[in-house]
This record gives sequence, structure tokens and C-alpha cells, in this order.
Amino acid sequence: MTRRELRFASLAITALSLLFSTKSNVGAQEKYSLKPTPKTVAWGYYDAKAAPVLRVKSGDTVEIQTLITSTPKRLEDAGVPSLSSAPSAISAVSVSSALNLFPSFWPDRALPSPHAEKPEWCKALPRPEYKSLQRVLPDDPWFEVYKVAPGVFAIYEPHQAEEVISYLIVGHKQAVLFDTGMGISNIRKVISQLTSRPVVVLNSHTHNDHVGGNWQFNFVYGMDTDFTRKNAKGSREDAQAEIALPKGFNPKTYATKPWKISRFIHDGFKINLGGRTLEVLSTPGHTPDAISLLDRENGLLFTGDTYYPAPIWLFRPETDLDAYVNSAKRIAALAPGLKLVLGAHNLPVAEPSVLPRLVAAIQAVRSGQGSVKPAGEGKALHSFGGFDFLLTAPKKEKN
Ligand SMILES: [Zn+2]
Repeated sequence: MTRRELRFASLAITALSLLFSTKSNVGAQEKYSLKPTPKTVAWGYYDAKAAPVLRVKSGDTVEIQTLITSTPKRLEDAGVPSLSSAPSAISAVSVSSALNLFPSFWPDRALPSPHAEKPEWCKALPRPEYKSLQRVLPDDPWFEVYKVAPGVFAIYEPHQAEEVISYLIVGHKQAVLFDTGMGISNIRKVISQLTSRPVVVLNSHTHNDHVGGNWQFNFVYGMDTDFTRKNAKGSREDAQAEIALPKGFNPKTYATKPWKISRFIHDGFKINLGGRTLEVLSTPGHTPDAISLLDRENGLLFTGDTYYPAPIWLFRPETDLDAYVNSAKRIAALAPGLKLVLGAHNLPVAEPSVLPRLVAAIQAVRSGQGSVKPAGEGKALHSFGGFDFLLTAPKKEKN
């Protein structure tokens, strides 16, 4: 199960409650069924500036099987009628995005009245962070690139289920590429359009969705762990486990190519980019080689997979939960000095106050609080305080 499937599972549930709650508002009712097709797999995050792609009236049925799409064209391709100027509209995309990304804005019930111009929860969107996002290189067919802070670019891969985000951090002398993505499209080409300075690669950790383009670069830092060394040999199994690859891409041949570690580094290592210094913080837990990257002067913390705004994966054999909690505490302690937290999936920006709440949530979950749902073979989704963690399910005893 992917992060995306989890998100849509919760979306589908809420869509149903929306449906039941609005059943009494009779009008000309429509039924929309959104099914995944190769053309509609692409899905970005909430775009405050984009027009809703689907407007539904109270009483309409929206059956969401896996996804909602990002453009009217793609929606039509998925067999959904084109936009009508229906009154009292709810934007399905806004609904999905609000559910996925801004759960606190979704009231328990409080459905918008059919005559309201804009539902109450909608008025709170977008979050202020989005105003600072500036799209660059809009023509790239695979990557979406956003300038999220001065000299910082988020390189987002929305067309694949992991929705991974790599970051290019540029100084006067050189630049760091923090992760290289899936390795499906050519990240080096994108980087060359963003900076002419020498680029060194550093990985938030070496899971395959963060190292796919490592082989394209001459200089790659590596944490001094066996896990890193092993992954640098490339991986086929992990890569093969990925789903929802783009059309025309042959998943059978997909693998992470090996790369050469140019220099091993440890906790506390600093990289001077010229006018900007990045500090490596060892934050093991998700993996033994997980790091966060701190730009102390500019108040930026790149958290990799230690924090991102979607179910956080903590179920794999290389995960160490005790270490994860300690790492979360370590980065949470930095929150007062931060302006922005930049995670490695789904959304590039979060408020620093999310970090202390993350610590509270994982501790609550570990002490048995919050809700638990089965989430695929051997896994369980634990939720508390707006955070979701995908953990190993307790093993059932077999007779
Ligand atoms: Zn990972």
C-alpha cells in the first residue's frame, strides 16, 4: 500500500459520509465515478490557484476509487462529464485536498448548506505557506519544480504514487541536491536548468525513491553506515515494488542504478555552499542512515522521511522506533529557530510547530492511544492528533 492509497482510503470514507449527509437535498442528482486510468494517475497537491476540476451539487454521488485528477482534460479522460456551472458547488479536488492535507479544517459534520457560496472550511484555505510557492520550469513533463525559499527548489514527482520531493539548495559557490528522486526521469537535466554551480548529492536516506538519480552525479556524500553501502549497489526488488509508474514506462526493467559514494560523512558534518552552510543531523529511525539537513541561518530544516505530511512509514525491517522517537525529539527541539520544515513527500512546506506535535503523536501512538486500522499485509495505520504512522501490525498467533 502506498501513501497515496492510504490517503484515498480516508478520502473515500469521508466522501461517503458527505453523500449520506446530503441525501435529503434533492435536485437533479448526478453520479460521478472516478476511476484510475494511466492518464489520470497523475495527481498533485492542493493548488490554491487552480480552478476546481469537478463541481458537485448536494446529493450528487462521487465515487472515488483511487484518485481525483488534476485537470479538467484528465477528468474527462477518466469518463467524468465536463464542468457545468452548477450552483452551490463543492470542489471535489478541494475536498480531497482538504482531507488529505488539512484534516483540521474538515469539521465532523457541518456540511455546507446548499446555498452557501463557499463552505466554511474552504475559507481557511490555502494555508499561508502556499503563497510563497512559486512554480518554475513549468514545461517539464515529469517534475514539478517550486521555488520554496531563496535559493531553494523543491523538485516534486507528482506522477508517481510516492510523490517524492527532492530539494536543490543553492549557495554562491556550489549547490547541494538533497535526494535525487525516483530515477524515472532525468533529474540532472532539471538541475542544470536551475543552477550552473557545481552540484553535490546528499541523501536524506537511501531508500530507492530518494536515490534514483544518484548515479547521474559525480559527487555523492554517504552516511557511514552498512545500510548506505548496501543500497549504493542499487536495488531491483525495492524498485520493483513501486506501483503506478507512468504510461510507457516498463516497470519490469525498473531498478535503482548503483552509485559511487565519494565521501562518507557523520552527524555534525557541515557543507559550506558559499554564503550558506548546511549541517547534517543524523536522525536515524526510518532508516539507520536517515538524516535531516539544517540551514540554521535561514531557519530551514529538511526532514527527509522523518517528517512529511502523510502517513509516515515506520514498518520496514530497517526501521528502529526508539531511534525514531529520539530523532523526532532532536528535530523538534530546533523548532523555535526554524521558519520552514521541508519534508520529502507530498508537500514541500510545513510549519515548524508540526515537529513538537509529531513527537507527542508518535509517543501517544506507542503508548496505545489513537486509532488503529489494518493497512495491508502485516501493517497497521495508527492515527493520533492529525498524524498517521504506518507501523508493523502485531503478529497474529497461528495454531
Ligand atoms: Zn524512506
